[in-house]
Parts: sequence; structure tokens; C-alpha cells
Amino acid sequence: MVGQISGGLKEEKLMKKTYRLLGPDGIMFESLVPGTLGGYRRKKIYGRLDCPSANAALKKGGYAKHRVFFAGEEDAIRAGYRPCGKCMKEFYRKWKAGGRPGTREYPWLTTP
Ligand SMILES: [Zn+2]
Repeated sequence: MVGQISGGLKEEKLMKKTYRLLGPDGIMFESLVPGTLGGYRRKKIYGRLDCPSANAALKKGGYAKHRVFFAGEEDAIRAGYRPCGKCMKEFYRKWKAGGRPGTREYPWLTTP
């Protein structure tokens, strides 16, 4: 039963709560602190946890399994993700405008 399985997991997590985050190398790892940014794996976009666009997609369903979390922005960038156009407009604009990869103004590794 689903209830029994989730109950068991809950007990395990109570002993040592961990969060599954996506690392800078693109590999998932267990973290003791929750992620500060969310991401959409299929399009490699990262954004705020309260992103209206992501939350709307989560409500519609089917999005949750592609949802990832990052410890911070640097991890997201290193994993090859780019900023969300909805909740991170400022960064998105910079990313979209292009620039020299690796510079302060353009830290994203992939060109638009
Ligand atoms: Zn967003």
C-alpha cells in the first residue's frame, strides 16, 4: 500500500532529514539543507521556489517528476541551467542578451 510505504519513508527522514538536490556536475545528491532554487530538468531552466510559472505547471500535474532543486545559483549554472524568464527576469535578460561566457555579466556556460 502507498500509505505504508510513505509512512516508512517518513520515519526514516525524521532521523536525518535530507533533501535531494542536483549538483553542479548534474548528479543528484542528498543534502542536509534544503535547496534555494528550483529547476525544470527538461528545459534546463532554474528559478525561484515560488516561481508562478513553475507552480502553475506543478498544479497542472506531470511537472513534478521533472522538478529538480539546487543548493544555489552557482550549482544551477554549472549544471548547465539558465535563468527563468518569469521569476528571474533580470538574469534572464542578461542571459538572453548574450555576452562573454564565464564573465561576471554572463556566468552561464551555454550560449543562448
Ligand atoms: Zn520561474
